[in-house]
Amino acid sequence: MFFFFVGGVGQQVRQVLKSGAGTCIRCGSEADLVDYDKVLKLFFIPVWRWPGKDPLLHCRDCDLFFPQSLSPPPVSLATCRFCDRVVEPEFRFCPFCGSSL
Ligand SMILES: [Zn+2]
Ligand SMILES: [Zn+2]
Repeated sequence: MFFFFVGGVGQQVRQVLKSGAGTCIRCGSEADLVDYDKVLKLFFIPVWRWPGKDPLLHCRDCDLFFPQSLSPPPVSLATCRFCDRVVEPEFRFCPFCGSSL
């Protein structure tokens, strides 16, 4: 059985608000914060477009749109100043060399 999608609503970037504002939830690449239009397509031809409500993050690599709330916050990592290994920022002591941070 074959399905042919001749119409549907898609999203299209109208304007990049902030480049590299987030991380793609699918492929992990940089995502831009964008204003977007919703586009209704029939037989692959855009027949109607209207502005989306809130800015979304858009991945340049896999063309995915997703709300900013789904993007993980930037990971803040600390490094031990004695052995230079990455440790959790809330650690009081380095788990590798035992130094106080
Ligand atoms: Zn992606
Ligand atoms: Zn250490």
